[in-house]
This record gives sequence, C-alpha cells and structure tokens, in this order.
Amino acid sequence: MHQETLKALLLAVAQSVISHADELTVLDQAIGDGDHGLNMKRGFEAVLAQASEIARHPLPDALNEVGKTLVMTVGGASGPLYGTFFMTFGKSLPSEPTLVELASAFEAAVGAVERRGKSCAGQKTLLDVLVPVGEELQAGPDDLLERVERRALAAADATIPMRATRGRASFLGERSIGHMDPGARSCALIIVSSCELFGN
Ligand code: ADP
Ligand code: MG
Repeated sequence: MHQETLKALLLAVAQSVISHADELTVLDQAIGDGDHGLNMKRGFEAVLAQASEIARHPLPDALNEVGKTLVMTVGGASGPLYGTFFMTFGKSLPSEPTLVELASAFEAAVGAVERRGKSCAGQKTLLDVLVPVGEELQAGPDDLLERVERRALAAADATIPMRATRGRASFLGERSIGHMDPGARSCALIIVSSCELFGN
C-alpha cells in the first residue's frame, strides 16, 4: 500500500475513534466502568501522533506498530485485545495482500483475540463485530466495502439484546441486556472508517 494511502487510513481511523469518544464513554458507563472512550481516545491520539512515522513502514509492519502503540496506551481489557488484533493482523499479512490473503490474515487476528480474551462471538464483546466482518471478507469481492460496512454496523447493533458473559459487563448479568457493547461499537467505528476511506 502506498505510504500516503496508509497515512490517510491511519488518520481516518484515529479521527473516527477520537471523535466518538464521548459516545463510547456513555456506552461503557451503562454496562462497564465508563473508561472505554478515554482509553480508545488515548490510544488513537498516540496513533495519530505517530501516523507519518508508522506509514513509512510496509503495511504488515505498520499494523504491527499500531498494535504495539495500542497495547502501550489504551489499557483496560480492550488495549491488549486491540493490540493483539493489529499485531497478529500485521504479522499474518504479505506486504501487497490479495483479498484472499487479507481475509486469511484477518481471520488469524480474530483467532488471536479469541485466545487472548478466552472469548468467542455471542458473548457481547468486540468479537461480535470482528467475527461477522471476517465472514464478510471471506465472501468475496462483490460490493465488499458496502457489505463490510453494513455488516459491522448491524453486528454492533446486534449486541444490544445480548447478555454479556465476558468482560466487566458480564458482572451485570441480565442488566447488561439492552445496551450496545462499547467494544463492539469502537470496533465498528474502526471498520466503517476504513471502508469509507477506500470507498471514497
Ligand atoms: P475495561 O473493561 O477493562 O474497562 P474497556 O472499557 O476499555 O476495558 O473495554 C471494554 C470492552 O472490551 C468491552 O466492551 C468488550 O467489547 C471488550 N472485552 C472485554 N473483555 C473481553 C474479552 N474477554 N474478550 C473480548 N472482548 C472483551
Ligand atoms: Mg471500561
């Protein structure tokens, strides 16, 4: 990927997360401890500050650098999980990936998050967005960006009626029902802003 495209991608994703920090805070106040907005904002401000530097690397190394930055800055449960996702995604990608290679690296990254979080889709976490998006990537190139974007948003919405069985929200039991999972929402923001950058 061209350096300028990669930089634009990093900026678009970081700005989307940062500009939605208040919304993530409100979601985490409902079923967590209210820090997800600030955690993610801190992490993506660090990515923003280093965007030019990170974008000098080939795509796989750049994603690995994003992951390392997030591990060091986000904190909470989500920091190590997002860090694991981006580091594994980077390490699993060739520098000029085909769609098939991209989908397979994404799948490897989702698997690493599942192992790290000892979790799977259906537990009201960011995996409820990552897993369906991974399926969409496997389904081929037709209308890919539109499909992935729509699936990510629908998947985050679909966490509303779920009962959390992982993470802090699981402490609430039944009372976690009726709220969108903050990590699912931040994950959808990352996916949607990436799709929109390439779609425009
Ligand atoms: P913390 O829960 O430590 O306050 P954050 O508020 O930053 O951390 O992140 C919370 C989000 O992390 C949740 O909304 C959920 O999506 C995700 N999460 C928490 N635990 C897990 C887990 N074991 N597996 C996958 N995702 C998880
Ligand atoms: Mg929290």
